[in-house]
Amino acid sequence: MRWGRSFSVPLIGITTHAPHDPDRASLDALLAAIVQGVERAGGWPVLVPPGLAESTLRGLLARLDGLLLSGGGDVDPACYGAPPHPLAAGLDPARDAAELALTRWAIYEGRPLFGICRGAQVLNVALGGTLYGDVGEHPGALRHTYPSQAAALRPHPVQVAEGTRLAAVLGLPELTVNSLHHQAVQAAAPGLRVATRAPDGLVEAVELPAHPFALAVQWHPESLPAAPEMQRLFAAFVTAAGR
Ligand code: MN
Repeated sequence: MRWGRSFSVPLIGITTHAPHDPDRASLDALLAAIVQGVERAGGWPVLVPPGLAESTLRGLLARLDGLLLSGGGDVDPACYGAPPHPLAAGLDPARDAAELALTRWAIYEGRPLFGICRGAQVLNVALGGTLYGDVGEHPGALRHTYPSQAAALRPHPVQVAEGTRLAAVLGLPELTVNSLHHQAVQAAAPGLRVATRAPDGLVEAVELPAHPFALAVQWHPESLPAAPEMQRLFAAFVTAAGR
C-alpha cells in the first residue's frame, strides 16, 4: 500500500525514561510535551525506551531521521570517569548505555540530534566531556533546580553566543528559560561549542559545529509551548531531520 507523501515525514526517535523511574510522574508530562512539540513541528514521534538490545537500537536508529534525547535522572558519574556523587538521583544504567550509544552513532553518521536537559549532559558525556554532579559545585552558581510543577517559571536568562547555530535558530541574543536541572556541563567535550551561558557562567546549551544538526539545551523548551522561540527549536530540528 502506498501512503504517498507520508514517506517524507521525518521519523523522530525520542528516548524515554523507564516505567520504574522514580521521577516518572513529572517525566511523563515532559515527554508528552516533547511528543507534541515534535508533532507540531511536522515530525512523527517514535518513543525509544531504555532496555532494548544493542542490535535493536542500531537497527532502529538506521530507520530514524533524527534523535531527540529527552530529560530524566542523572547520568551516572562513572560514565565520565568520576566517583559516585552523594546527590546523584534517578540513575538508570540501561538508559545511560542506550543513550550514549545512540548519541555516538548519530554523531558519527551525521544524523540530526536534539538534546533536552539530561540530553545536553548525555551529548557532552558521549563526546568525552564532564559534568558537575550538582550545579552547586559551579563557582557562584545561581539557583538552577526548580520543581517541575514550576516548569512555566523562567528564573534565569541565558546569553546566546553570536555566530552559533542556536543564535541562528532562535534569532535572539538573549532569552529567559526554565531551569529544572541539578547536573550541568562542566568541561565541554572536544569539538563541542558552548552556545549559551547563564549569568553565573554555567553552560546552558552546546552544539557540534562539524555536524549537520547536533544541538542540546539545558532547559525544557517543551514546557513553554506558547513561547515561539521554544517551538523554533523543535521546528529547526525536525526540518534538519527531513533533509
Ligand atoms: Mn539553568
